Amino acid sequence: MSPVRSGGPPRRIGWSRLQSWAVVGFLVVLPLPLALGFGWFGLNPVTAERNAPVGSLAHELLNSFPDDRLLVEIASAPGAAPPAASVSLLWARMNETVQKASIQFVFETVSVPTASFTADGLFSIEEGVRQSWPAVGEMALFYLCLHGSYADQSGVLGLAYRGSSIAVFSDTIASTAGGGDPTAITSTVLIHEFGHELGLVGLVGTAPNEDPAHPGHSTDPNDVMYYAVETSGGLGSLFGGTPPPTQFGAADLADLGTVRNTPIPLELIPPVVLTLCWIAAGAAVVVVRRAALRS
Ligand SMILES: [Zn+2]
Repeated sequence: MSPVRSGGPPRRIGWSRLQSWAVVGFLVVLPLPLALGFGWFGLNPVTAERNAPVGSLAHELLNSFPDDRLLVEIASAPGAAPPAASVSLLWARMNETVQKASIQFVFETVSVPTASFTADGLFSIEEGVRQSWPAVGEMALFYLCLHGSYADQSGVLGLAYRGSSIAVFSDTIASTAGGGDPTAITSTVLIHEFGHELGLVGLVGTAPNEDPAHPGHSTDPNDVMYYAVETSGGLGSLFGGTPPPTQFGAADLADLGTVRNTPIPLELIPPVVLTLCWIAAGAAVVVVRRAALRS
């Protein structure tokens, strides 16, 4: 004869209430370490910049929200600073394209070796000298103006190598100018690389004027986003001493409308993760409370 049990069937051993609430708390705060680790929501902007390809910060550059201020930091090796007239023209082009309450320029002289630089080498130097990174409320753009050259392709005059980072090679510009005034070429280079950071041409969304033979560039030789303005060889052979273009064409300005309306994956990930975590936390709260009511 088997013994008689009292109290009905044995109860399943479930999670304790404390464990359940710990899961809820974990889901609520999980976005914070992720934000610190990946640089989301303006936290740890250096890490965010490391992971920002050219064009991926176009919305922060173009739009007044979330950043209604733009700080342009121009860090130059001694003797490599861009002419004031070139900076003034860059400022004008920025005002034609971005929606910011203020655009402020900061100029610095930095100690940078004269060498042949890779994009990673440029970013390594940038990390040591850059003062302002993209942050909540203020977008930052960095120009590193230096002697030397670009290692991956000779004759490159300038290069956008991260989402808010641009290099300008003053010696290559000077030699392309043939000993003459480098102002016109410098203006073109500053504005052309800024255009890439805005997502031109076709870096964000599709652009009807993108040159299939030179991706990221315009088909129009009168457009500052024309491919040939970026190298000494292109300027020498195609423009024959005439000043290169310094204006965004009408097609570029239309492209910027597409850029504004095109989602950028890196922008979407943080709010999606935050939303999923908090929905899961909310669902966990409901489950815990229902379990508490049943017990
Ligand atoms: Zn280019």
